[in-house]
Amino acid sequence: MCVFCKIIQGEIPSYKVYEDDKVLAILDISQATIGHTLVMPKTHHETIFDLDDETISHLYKVVRKISSSYQEKLNGMVGLNLLNNNKEKAGQTVPHYHVHIIPRYDDDNLKDIEFTNNSKDVDFNELIKTIKING
Ligand code: AMP
Ligand code: ZN
Repeated sequence: MCVFCKIIQGEIPSYKVYEDDKVLAILDISQATIGHTLVMPKTHHETIFDLDDETISHLYKVVRKISSSYQEKLNGMVGLNLLNNNKEKAGQTVPHYHVHIIPRYDDDNLKDIEFTNNSKDVDFNELIKTIKING
């Protein structure tokens, strides 16, 4: 059983921020900033590629609920990052889907993710032909 399934089962202790029958939100054991939170489905799905519409739509409603609540309750919070890593290459260390809620403060010493502009390597017309989805 994965570490988050053990937390969900109550085998490993956690600081619970929110819980319902489908979703659990806990404080990350390693607080990148004050209030750093992980929101996860109670069912074991490894990545975004494994999740069904119903589970993920409910999960993101909870993410929004917690984010709004933090804006009211966390003193000095001036911004917030949402982060979800899928697969090892992308930095996923726990193979149970989760969204990081990372409150931001003026002097939080957290490095922003730097996006290098690699557009020179991209043929936009070819790419859009390949990946465009009809809504
Ligand atoms: P990721 O790298 O996106 O898979 O994030 C995994 C996160 O889980 C890390 O930020 C860890 O600090 C956190 N984590 C690992 N074990 C625990 C635990 N027992 N309780 C709370 N957070 C945990
Ligand atoms: Zn799990």
